[in-house]
Amino acid sequence: RVAVVGAGVSGLTATKCCLDEGLEPTCFEQSQDIGGVWRYTEHIEAGRPSLYPSVISNTSKEMSAFSDFPFPEDFPVFLPNAQLLDYLRRYAEHVSLWEHIKLGTTVVSIRKHPDFATTGQWNVVTEAGGKQISHVFDAVMVCSGNFSEPSLPLHCFPGIEKFQGQYFHSRQYKHPDVFQGKRVLVVGMGNSGVDIAVEASHVAAKVTISTTRGAWLLSRVFEHGYPWDMVLNTRLMSLIRTNLPRLLSWWLINYKVNQRFNHENYGLQPEKSCLVREPVLSDDLPSYILTGRITIKPGVKEFKDNSVVFHNCPEEEPIDIVVFCTGYNVSFPFLEESIVRVENKHTSLYKYVFPTHLQKPTLAVLGLIKPLGGIMPVAEMQARWVSCVFKGLCQLPSQSVMEKEVNEKKKNQVRWFGLTFDEVLKTEWLDYLDTLASFIGAKPSVLGLLCTDPWLALTIFFGPCSPYQYRLQGPGHWEGARQAILTQWDRVLKPTRTRVPAGSSSSF
Ligand code: NAP
Repeated sequence: RVAVVGAGVSGLTATKCCLDEGLEPTCFEQSQDIGGVWRYTEHIEAGRPSLYPSVISNTSKEMSAFSDFPFPEDFPVFLPNAQLLDYLRRYAEHVSLWEHIKLGTTVVSIRKHPDFATTGQWNVVTEAGGKQISHVFDAVMVCSGNFSEPSLPLHCFPGIEKFQGQYFHSRQYKHPDVFQGKRVLVVGMGNSGVDIAVEASHVAAKVTISTTRGAWLLSRVFEHGYPWDMVLNTRLMSLIRTNLPRLLSWWLINYKVNQRFNHENYGLQPEKSCLVREPVLSDDLPSYILTGRITIKPGVKEFKDNSVVFHNCPEEEPIDIVVFCTGYNVSFPFLEESIVRVENKHTSLYKYVFPTHLQKPTLAVLGLIKPLGGIMPVAEMQARWVSCVFKGLCQLPSQSVMEKEVNEKKKNQVRWFGLTFDEVLKTEWLDYLDTLASFIGAKPSVLGLLCTDPWLALTIFFGPCSPYQYRLQGPGHWEGARQAILTQWDRVLKPTRTRVPAGSSSSF
């Protein structure tokens, strides 16, 4: 019996993977519906993520799909939140998840059962309709997400207490009308910051983004108009990225990201170009900077009554409204700190999933990772691996081996990515998927396929690493995987090639 905490992307696929392995999942969802971060509500609910209605997925549908359930071919290539939610509902129907989901049920606490050392069991207390119930589960998958608790570090912004204008965290943002005619400051250039600045610029008098570190900007519409992740996340590209000498690979990244426009000329160049941070996806920002709708400024030095002063800028800038797009904290209020400790905004988990110090590997955290690619296939792969571990089909290494790897990784990632939680969580998307897939015997063998199915092998190696690749062999093999891979570009072109001129040789 497995308790799954949360019915968002990770929780849904976790429930499905438990069922695939013959486990008995119960998925507890505190709100009244599934979908997690992708379920838009106009009203902001405490303890739940809150979207603005214009959010569109940053990764394309072919690279974001669950590996045995492609998106419908007529869905757009990048998904508006409502369509992503629609997909999640179809998935839940398709794999019959509803009977395993308990809506309106909050997980209040998860504690080791007194016999934990021998059974690995957990006492789980849930609350529904004001009534608490105690359960015993053999294992737990924590899928509660990391976008519910806003990080609003006001202490980093001297003078904010005397600022006369309005300010709020991006989690509070819904519609741009609050910016009508105002001078707007957006603090933080993550994806929320850029999205909100772009929307504000349609109605505001002036929009400024303040960024301490800058960021690489990627466009959804990438080379030759193809989706960015289908171009960059290929096995060939991953091989090049991970095997080139460090300097050469940085040169290549610099060259690639500056091809569309020079980041330095647009004030966007990351502070230390040797540090990678999560790229920001925006097709609009460069042209909005070019047309003067948005101005980029350095970090905030201090706020005054009605203005702000930036580092290295002598003049004050008058501001009416500030949006702090400063990201989110991670927390697991239902877990004791001794189980999963969040420290300096990061946790030490083996492969970002398993606490290293438990006598029994019966608790796993899913989706707590920010790979440079779609999160849905990653959460699904984690769930497949975790289900195999819970079932006893896969073993984890010894505690010392896991701890050594976690510590090594921390050291390396700190060197490469800086110290913040976001950065530590980053990892090469394809490598990570391959590693977990190899644990469960689902990693595709390109060389093997070259002998038996050369066309498929070439498509897998040179083409996008779409998640269906992980259903070609091993447990969870899916009959439709080969066909899904060979038709992935058809599903990309279907919603865009909607007009074929007379006489054209192309057909739908
Ligand atoms: P975020 O990516 O965590 O960015 C927060 C930014 O706030 C930092 O990068 C930093 O920006 C700034 N910041 C943080 N602490 C600060 C401090 N103490 N002082 C000054 N600045 C500080 O947050 P987010 O943009 O809300 O995004 C959260 C997650 O949701 C991300 O993974 C993002 O990709 C995702 N998201 C996705 C979509 C989408 O799919 N369309 C849309 C929105 C968000 P600077 O370094 O620039 O100062």
